[in-house]
Amino acid sequence: MEISLSDSGLLKYQAYIGGQWIDADSGDTFDVTNPATSQVIGSVARCGAGETRRAIDIAEGAQQTWCQITAKERGDMLREWFQQIMAHVEDLAQILTLEQGKPLAEAKGEIIYGASYAEWFAEEAKRIYGDVIAPPSNDKRVVCIKQPVGVVACITPWNFPNAMLTRKIAPALAAGCTVVCKPAEATPLSAFAVTELARRAGIPDGVINVLTGVTEEIGQELTSNSKVRKLSFTGSTAVGKRLMADCAGTMKRTSMELGGNAPFIVFDDADIEAAVQGAVLSKYRNAGQTCVCANRFLVQDSVYDDFVAGFKAAVAGLKVGDGFDESVTVGPLIHEAAAQGVRDLVQDAVSKGAKLLTDDSSIEGLTNTFVAPSILVNMDRSMRVYTEEIFGPVAPIYRFTDEQEAIAMANDTNYGLACYFYTRDVGRIWRVSEGLDYGILGINEGILSNPSAPFGGVKESGQGREGSKYGLDDYLEIKYLCMGGIDQ
Ligand code: ADP
Repeated sequence: MEISLSDSGLLKYQAYIGGQWIDADSGDTFDVTNPATSQVIGSVARCGAGETRRAIDIAEGAQQTWCQITAKERGDMLREWFQQIMAHVEDLAQILTLEQGKPLAEAKGEIIYGASYAEWFAEEAKRIYGDVIAPPSNDKRVVCIKQPVGVVACITPWNFPNAMLTRKIAPALAAGCTVVCKPAEATPLSAFAVTELARRAGIPDGVINVLTGVTEEIGQELTSNSKVRKLSFTGSTAVGKRLMADCAGTMKRTSMELGGNAPFIVFDDADIEAAVQGAVLSKYRNAGQTCVCANRFLVQDSVYDDFVAGFKAAVAGLKVGDGFDESVTVGPLIHEAAAQGVRDLVQDAVSKGAKLLTDDSSIEGLTNTFVAPSILVNMDRSMRVYTEEIFGPVAPIYRFTDEQEAIAMANDTNYGLACYFYTRDVGRIWRVSEGLDYGILGINEGILSNPSAPFGGVKESGQGREGSKYGLDDYLEIKYLCMGGIDQ
């Protein structure tokens, strides 16, 4: 697939350190491929520990001046970044679809969503407040000020290669921090493109640094270097746990946005049509590759047949294919191994008695990275999909009899990111909301994210919140000033 960009300067293949686009010291590169066709798109700098260390040193130097400029000036630059991104939505979306596979319309949605964090934190930069606290004695005064954490390492995944990065960089910069970012190796081009726009927006050299390469080496340097004061990570729970342990050596602060096992509960009083619509959006967006995708559908006995029939009809209307085809609603998975993993989960369920309600006709003639949107019924809890994050377009549907059972099943997981439920009973909305061990609830809603709301999970889904008025806290330290000797 050839893309035609109106601004070809957005396609970058080098790392960005200290305001320079650079090759790896070794000159090595690695290939980036289009998941829809498996064709190589280009080769990207393969950096290692040395370049990472340099980027950290530069970010540390840049932070000294970045935190001295006014919050308004930082906000103005973030706003300009937002405007630059919005002026290049079409190009950025094409780059995203090319390397990630999601349908072009979804890619545009991601770019606009990603830009909204730059806009939001451009505004929030001016709203960092401290406290004046009643002192314990009259000769003292107690004041708290908030200061930037310092250099922040940002490690991001391939499922939202634009938005996961802006969601970290924007609050970090608003708070007065500088960043060293490592995007996922599968999707570096979106990260480089949005970085180029930050450069054009006038964000000073060294404030944003982005490098790709040998994951282990870069990760090791970012987590062990004492100049990095915080790690913000989005990715799998397994990698998050490991990085958090690695950060313990230098006691870095961490924000962890990890995996999920989202229940989607349909109660007997739900608007079934709305529930079906929400279910399709929540499950098949990004071909099921989001941490908030519905992972377990829990449907009350009396509406089970209606919901399954409606859902099956809606899924039959999905079109699988190359994301550049405008009629396509479900793209490929990120690579063949991911697709095979999802097929294995389906196979495991079927071998234990599940019934597949869909067939593979929608992916005929496509490459092995495509998985057909699927629905599984006759489910039980012994099947791997009950406990594991599917990260693919497969919807297992379980039954429950009453509210208590639904809450117990929903909470029966080590994850706690997003949960959805459909009901029109206001008492039930409160009871269920308070009973669910999740960071984010969609109530009669299948799409949750926006920059004004705090995004984050509990239990093994992570810690910290991204977006909203709370999102800056993760990038700020509280300093307490105790002033004594005040004459009365
Ligand atoms: P996913 O399943 O989305 O690929 P991962 O947790 O494997 O999730 O990857 C998320 C991000 O973490 C990617 O940028 C990946 O390169 C990075 N990553 C994986 N392992 C390490 C590591 N040991 N050190 C640093 N980054 C890592």
